[in-house]
Amino acid sequence: MAAPDSSSGAFALLNCVKCRLSGDLITQFNYIAAQNNLNSGMKNLLYCSLLILILPACNNSEKQLLKRAEIIHEKVLTVDTHCDTPMDMVRSDFDLGQHHSEGCVDFPRMAEGGLDAEFFAVFTSQGPRNDSAYKEVYSYALEVLETIHSNVEKNSDVAGIAITSDDAYKLKKAGRIAAFIGIENGYPVGKDISGIREFYDRGARYITLSHTRNNDICDSSTDPKGTEHNGLSSFGREVVKEMNRLGMMIDVSHISDKAFYDVIQLSSAPVIASHSSCRALCESPRNLNDDMLLALKENGGVIQICILSEYIKTPDPNPELDAKLRELRGKYGDYANLPDDKKKEMRSEYRVIQDKYEKLATVKDVVDHIDHVIQVIGVDYVGIGTDFDGGGGVEGCKTVADMKNITIELLRRGYKKADIAKIWGGNIMRVLNEVEQKKEIPA
Ligand SMILES: [Zn+2]
Repeated sequence: MAAPDSSSGAFALLNCVKCRLSGDLITQFNYIAAQNNLNSGMKNLLYCSLLILILPACNNSEKQLLKRAEIIHEKVLTVDTHCDTPMDMVRSDFDLGQHHSEGCVDFPRMAEGGLDAEFFAVFTSQGPRNDSAYKEVYSYALEVLETIHSNVEKNSDVAGIAITSDDAYKLKKAGRIAAFIGIENGYPVGKDISGIREFYDRGARYITLSHTRNNDICDSSTDPKGTEHNGLSSFGREVVKEMNRLGMMIDVSHISDKAFYDVIQLSSAPVIASHSSCRALCESPRNLNDDMLLALKENGGVIQICILSEYIKTPDPNPELDAKLRELRGKYGDYANLPDDKKKEMRSEYRVIQDKYEKLATVKDVVDHIDHVIQVIGVDYVGIGTDFDGGGGVEGCKTVADMKNITIELLRRGYKKADIAKIWGGNIMRVLNEVEQKKEIPA
């Protein structure tokens, strides 16, 4: 059977229409064209007629997918387990209640994207490990925690703090957004175990044990110096036990593979990877390999797929982007040493460069990772942790306003509402419940 001439304008246009219907009809029309020995002019005419016939149907099916996604977002609890927006909140008078044109997360855009619950991260980058640094980072972490509380309080008509799954479901029912709190990097705990209780009492429900560098709790997956504790340190073992005791989720994102297995072996409760993806699809030490996925299933935990582009798809070389970023670093110098106004300037120039030159992974690539987890360990152990405002965002889902695009892709692949409900929030809420039920002391 003659293949359609792919250089023909009409066929190229037809090819853009991604729906099964078009594929079936093209096959039929090709058959007719071949049977009747049509020349390319007549074939073009035939394809144009086909286009007129199928375009409304395709638009319709796209509209139907959006409609179905909207209904699902109304009915099921949707949770993102990681955003770094609080960094902006402490640096400026950022108000979560306002619709922003910069950044990725605020309450109005969560409502637009149908996102019911967000874990706001109290992030600290790894610094020196001495008493005065610990004192400083601990009080900074408390300041960020308070900023989250006051920002939510200020917008109590549309949002509320959540510490249990029950809180999240009740807030959704009342038409309000659930704001959870997580701690990214155990650094502010320092070497004083009592810090964990302090963070718990102030509403935090997970701690990511490390960030990109080793700390006193465990090795990081990305410290250029390599291993320091061969996994969890002895203090780290105390941290895991204390978190189990309090009923706080242990977050294994960022930690080394050995530390991951140490935690899995030691923890009496399920653990989470609040923002990590699959190493089988994208080779990065930040991602979990299939053996780790199997161990996570055994533990009853959950992996929340991180939609940061370079953890989703290994980027192709991009010398143009590299050159622009080098230029930016040359202009401003070391980001950490800049005064606040210059940091802001550098961040906004960075975003302009990113938008123009970065070739991001897509929503389809993200859903490939969800598919992969499901193929390896089933649908009960996967969710979504965007890392918005910490580098997260892919083509088709750059802010919380775009969250329904992930649901649309899940629907396109045949996922049913019950599974989508697990992916979007059911699984992480199950883990939160189990961790809470297994705690050893009353809160
Ligand atoms: Zn992170």
